[in-house]
Amino acid sequence: TQLKSSNLKLLGMLVTLIFGGNQGDRKTLIGEAITEMSSIGKIELCSSLYETAPWGFESSDSFYNQIVTYETNLLPEEVLDKCQATEQKLGRVRSGTQFCSRTMDIDILFCDSQIINTPRLTVPHPRLAQRNFVLAPLNEIMPAFIHPVIHKNIATLLAECTDTLKAEIIGKKYVTFPEDSE
Ligand code: ADP
Ligand code: MG
Repeated sequence: TQLKSSNLKLLGMLVTLIFGGNQGDRKTLIGEAITEMSSIGKIELCSSLYETAPWGFESSDSFYNQIVTYETNLLPEEVLDKCQATEQKLGRVRSGTQFCSRTMDIDILFCDSQIINTPRLTVPHPRLAQRNFVLAPLNEIMPAFIHPVIHKNIATLLAECTDTLKAEIIGKKYVTFPEDSE
């Protein structure tokens, strides 16, 4: 009995990240962040770009969000390091002589079906099931994925979500994704 090595494919971890920002050139910044993060591995899934209106009558910019799944050989905390380095690199834009903070937030939603609770990392992301701006793009790319803590799939979580803020598609899938023929 000979092991057919050609039939074996070593899969890395599938890590799902959400990119978000509400300042600066939001669309360009998210695209740059997605590209920067592809140093951790290959893009497997990518949602459309979504916009979520800000609460109430605030005049601040709305939030843009996009979700991407990468296949990576890094450990979860190493992925977090890269997320934080990318936030530092892209997450601040000059406005006059001042720096605005928080133009880029990159959070880890899922690492395969792992449950992680360390001082630096809680996975699945603790608030994802309460937010349309997370569940709507997740439902686009992985509706049947079962949340490893809540034990419901994404489509069910979206249907049951009581969030009143609408998340709307405003952009096509990531255009420079090489395998993306759309
Ligand atoms: P938030 O994303 O909650 O608005 P930050 O981006 O400033 O706030 O992150 C605060 C801390 O959250 C980070 O220092 C990080 O260690 C921690 N954290 C815990 N779980 C996660 C996760 N799943 N993804 C990203 N950061 C996380
Ligand atoms: Mg964050």
